[in-house]
Amino acid sequence: ATFEQANFPDYILEEVAKAGFTKPTPIQCQGWPMAMSGHDVIGIAQTGSGKTLAFILPAIVHINAQPLLQRGDGPIVLILCPTRELANQTQQEVNKFGHSSRIKNTCVYGGVPKAKQAGDLSRGVEIVIATPGRLLDFLESGTTNLQRVTYLVLDEGDRMLDMGFEPQIRKIVSQIRPDRQTLLWSATWPKEVVQMSRTFLKDPIQVNI
Ligand code: AMP
Repeated sequence: ATFEQANFPDYILEEVAKAGFTKPTPIQCQGWPMAMSGHDVIGIAQTGSGKTLAFILPAIVHINAQPLLQRGDGPIVLILCPTRELANQTQQEVNKFGHSSRIKNTCVYGGVPKAKQAGDLSRGVEIVIATPGRLLDFLESGTTNLQRVTYLVLDEGDRMLDMGFEPQIRKIVSQIRPDRQTLLWSATWPKEVVQMSRTFLKDPIQVNI
């Protein structure tokens, strides 16, 4: 399979070529057409499988199809993840592949002062990459809102549940419009994650490698 088969626009193909990638990973081959067609997706994949780009490249295309960002606008794409480390790694991929599209993004997570994160949110961003607790703080204080979110990623769903984030995730997702596209990624597929997919996804297609 090739990158061209995913139906990506040229600016994405150029970023992929610049990164020196020669072919998509198996999870990307399967996941990209599904994500690009607007379906909800369950991806069972480990770190190292290329899962991050499997949801980020379609997210960039999704954002570029929307009206231009205004100051103070909430995000279009929300990526929820369990840890600060994963949030930072994901942000690096967003910065690299979203560069030519000038996509504004920020990471929000606990354990650091709120001022810089709050400033980024107030200026307006297209992508927020967040751990659930800190994002909920910002939603409760009105620093940002999820009215524009139409593409939701739950990354490392099994780890988020292990860490006890389910109540926060529920509160967050309840603020997102029901006609969103949702992508759930998990390394494992225990019954708790199956239940999570039933709660948050609609008619999902499952990608397994
Ligand atoms: P991930 O599974 O998302 O943590 O990705 C693991 C690493 O593989 C990251 O450093 C990616 O930049 C890299 N990667 C993602 N897709 C490809 C690809 N198609 N070809 C080569 N490397 C890739």
